[in-house]
Amino acid sequence: MHDIKHWIDGAYAAGTSDRHSEVFNPATGEVQARVPLATAAEIDAAVDRAAEAQVGWAATNPQRRARVMMKFGALIQRDMDKLAEAISREHGKTLPDAKGDVQRGLEVVEVCMGAPHMLKGEAMTDGGPGIDLYSMRQPLGVVAGITPFNFPAMIPLWKMAPAIVSGNAMILKPSERTPTCSLLLAELLKEAGLPDGVLQVVHGDKEAVDAILDNETVQAVGFVGSTPIAQYIYGRAATNGKRAQCFGGAKNHMIIMPDADLDKAADALVGSGYGAAGERCMAISVAVPVGEETADRLTEKLIPRIEKLKVGPYTGGDDVDYGPLITGAAKERVEGLISSGIDQGAEALADGRGFSLQGYENGFFLGPTFFDRVTPDMDIYREEIFGPVLSQVRMGSYEDALDLVMKNQYGNGTAIFTRDGDAARDFAARVNVGMVGINFPIPVPLSYFTFGGWKKSAFGDLNQYGPDAFRFYTRTKTVTARWFSGIKDGGEFHFKAMD
Ligand code: NAD
Repeated sequence: MHDIKHWIDGAYAAGTSDRHSEVFNPATGEVQARVPLATAAEIDAAVDRAAEAQVGWAATNPQRRARVMMKFGALIQRDMDKLAEAISREHGKTLPDAKGDVQRGLEVVEVCMGAPHMLKGEAMTDGGPGIDLYSMRQPLGVVAGITPFNFPAMIPLWKMAPAIVSGNAMILKPSERTPTCSLLLAELLKEAGLPDGVLQVVHGDKEAVDAILDNETVQAVGFVGSTPIAQYIYGRAATNGKRAQCFGGAKNHMIIMPDADLDKAADALVGSGYGAAGERCMAISVAVPVGEETADRLTEKLIPRIEKLKVGPYTGGDDVDYGPLITGAAKERVEGLISSGIDQGAEALADGRGFSLQGYENGFFLGPTFFDRVTPDMDIYREEIFGPVLSQVRMGSYEDALDLVMKNQYGNGTAIFTRDGDAARDFAARVNVGMVGINFPIPVPLSYFTFGGWKKSAFGDLNQYGPDAFRFYTRTKTVTARWFSGIKDGGEFHFKAMD
């Protein structure tokens, strides 16, 4: 049991509040650390110092700022194992999955190494007679990142790298469930040459978040988490005149057409549905086979794959497929939803409740659950479960399957498995979801594209990372310039009498 600290002005700082949150080891159920929950006064002090540090950082030319990212990227690679271990210890995901978490964040740092190109602005000479126009992208000042528990490296990196390389200072408030990785990243940024105060990592809960939202110096808020909190933060930030992009929850559907390669589809469903115990915003949680025969054949392929899944701690060896849920409360919530599915008439072909692992009886593990014949009125369909639960909704036609996806309140990711290019193109063009996979179950775009959902999966404008991130973290100033006739048109060079 140890005390976690804030990271202020380039050094660890103990919290001054008397409130703490417990950080569990999800595999054993034990409390392994306490994290301080910052007061509003602590947030305000961190913001003030960040505002001072930001002035010098914004005046550092973009190439030098990018060089910090180059070193940062190399240091992340050097410390990959250490970062992954810190993630697995607090989150419970397997080590290869934790490395993927770091890797997908690192890829955004790599794009930030070329940030000067993104910060150039635009120019036009002779836009009018003798009139030149140019636009600049200037940093906002102090910005904030508020991040969820499930990707302790990737999402803080999606926030901090583009914000900082654009010349801003950042207050990062990571999840109080998985706080350590952000601190290790802050250490690495300092080693890479980032001036003290440009990144402040402050832990906290609603009190700290509200203080960020109400602080007049904070210019923008980037949030990732559940939909109700995303909507709340978006509303309060906007009321206070801040830029906000708030990414929320998901219910991602995968349509399986009758012509699909069902072995590939079954592999994809099991990997994306149960990987990381289903605690991914891009997890596929709803399988939508088209036609009864497709559904029956798919079910036959899914069951043995689900039965083979190995659930265990991250220290349990290379063949562990997924680990525990994040907290006992999260496990209870998912168990409650599974019970509701059975009560409401879904067919549980695999039921993960009551799963127990020798030596880890108090861990937050759940076995894989698979529901067939789920209908849209059931709670297990309507709610984001965020656990190792896959629901199958059988649909009679492609149009009905598409309609189901379209009517869902969430629009983060979706996928179609088919051998028919025409169906795939039609789906990609018409579906009202932000990220689409074609024979690809978790379509998280590469870092030079952008990431963002539609409908209740995102509030605000502009996506995360890629070109949108540089737009979000800078404001545009446009200059229109005209020079009147100067000395080239007739300067007088002889000595003139004064009379
Ligand atoms: P969460 O909403 O509980 O917490 C996210 C952040 O908000 C944390 O930093 C937390 O401290 C803070 N917070 C929690 N309650 C708050 C309150 N009442 N007021 C102010 N701040 C508050 O989410 P989580 O459980 O950490 O993460 C899981 C959720 O995140 C899922 O819904 C998942 O789909 C979503 N998610 C979305 C994306 C995406 O890009 N769309 C990515 C990852 C996770």
